[in-house]
Amino acid sequence: MTARLIDGKAVAASLRAEIAARVATLRFRPGLSVILVGDDPASAVYVRRKDRAAEAAGLAAQTIRLPAATPEAALLAEIRRLNADPTVDGILVQLPLPPAIRTEAVIDAIDPAKDVDGFHPWNAGLLAAGRPALVPCTPRGIMRLLESSGLLPAGKRALVLGRSNIVGRPLAALLLAADATVTVAHSRTRDLPAECRRADILIAAAGRPELVRGDWIAPEATVIDVGIHRRPDGRLVGDVAYAEAIKIAGAITPVPGGVGPMTIACLLENTVTAALRRRDVLPS
Ligand code: NAP
Repeated sequence: MTARLIDGKAVAASLRAEIAARVATLRFRPGLSVILVGDDPASAVYVRRKDRAAEAAGLAAQTIRLPAATPEAALLAEIRRLNADPTVDGILVQLPLPPAIRTEAVIDAIDPAKDVDGFHPWNAGLLAAGRPALVPCTPRGIMRLLESSGLLPAGKRALVLGRSNIVGRPLAALLLAADATVTVAHSRTRDLPAECRRADILIAAAGRPELVRGDWIAPEATVIDVGIHRRPDGRLVGDVAYAEAIKIAGAITPVPGGVGPMTIACLLENTVTAALRRRDVLPS
């Protein structure tokens, strides 16, 4: 049997439509400001997609493009200006930043109430304490994909492969909050294939093309592939060897068209949440 496809594109499209309908009922336009430093082509593509999706949802989106040689102090000043601007509800600084700029200093400078990426330690701390506020978009998107596909994590064994602050760590906290039994694996994990084989839900976010092989997957397991890589022949692949995995898994996300579209939809959702909280429409 072949695994059921988890269609992130379709789920994201319906979430985006819901967000647009909600925004249309508001008496103001939630504002999203995205800062792009430098000219990394992949980052430029992501930023353009975010900007278009925000406009399509009815948000007031602006992209601030700064040269790669921008000093850290100038970037921090720009963030302070956006923190103080009442029309800006969400601030996102596209990562990675040029090496001369300290990523942590930049994340720490963003007002936690406008931190729509959910990377500020204040928001990370709330999530770790089981009191999520603004949650990182990719993990949030993964949880929504599982929910919308009826693949509820409660009581299941979940293996999160990767422990970054962007994906692995916050996702583990969300899965725990959703009553999964969570294992976090990383580059120092002993016998990774065996750990993977124990999982009912396997989430691959290692950033290694096709690392997870078919025989690492338990029969009928749910596989969520967060990775995205371009092979020299131009093919896009994930962290999972897809052709092998679909023969074993019960359900799987494709690459592209799985997790990626959900990340942007959840960014829009976070921006609306931040806008409503800042106006005391939602509890913070
Ligand atoms: P990252 O910061 O590089 O973290 C990778 C994690 O995987 C680390 O914890 C690392 O372990 C672990 N790892 C690396 N190689 C491993 C191996 N051979 N065996 C076991 N663990 C290994 O990456 P990230 O930012 O979390 O992103 C992960 C992937 O998701 C990337 O492909 C990225 O492009 C993709 N991504 C996609 C989206 C989307 O919207 N679709 C969003 C974000 C990220 P250590 O901690 O021990 O080094």
